[in-house]
Amino acid sequence: MRITPQRSAIYKAVLEHGDHPTASEIHKWIARDMPHVSIDTVNRTLHSFHDMGLLNIVEGEGGPRRFDPNTRSHHHLHCDRCGKIIDFYSDAADNMPIPPEVQNDFIVERKRIVLSGICRECMNANDASGSGT
Ligand SMILES: [Zn+2]
Ligand SMILES: [Zn+2]
Repeated sequence: MRITPQRSAIYKAVLEHGDHPTASEIHKWIARDMPHVSIDTVNRTLHSFHDMGLLNIVEGEGGPRRFDPNTRSHHHLHCDRCGKIIDFYSDAADNMPIPPEVQNDFIVERKRIVLSGICRECMNANDASGSGT
């Protein structure tokens, strides 16, 4: 794959976005500098980055596909309120034993634990708005 300014802008946008962005978020992000780049191009580029192992794809819960530039082994905290996905690292989670119920029927190649709940910012927002009503 050739490295074009467009492609490096897309990759940089994923890194700098900090959360796990969707293709349309990346598209919006780079449109500030490159308004001529289409959402299709962004989509295709993100998928080829994925094919090259530069990005992971995170399947949202019913939402659009999100891209994760963090290729270290890690796990996710998923906020049900704002939809944010936060990376976390845990040896205990990495070393979690494969349940015997799946061992015979499935070869596990990657382990990712997703914990759903409410992130700190949403907790704080809750506290702040509590006085009004
Ligand atoms: Zn949240
Ligand atoms: Zn992640």
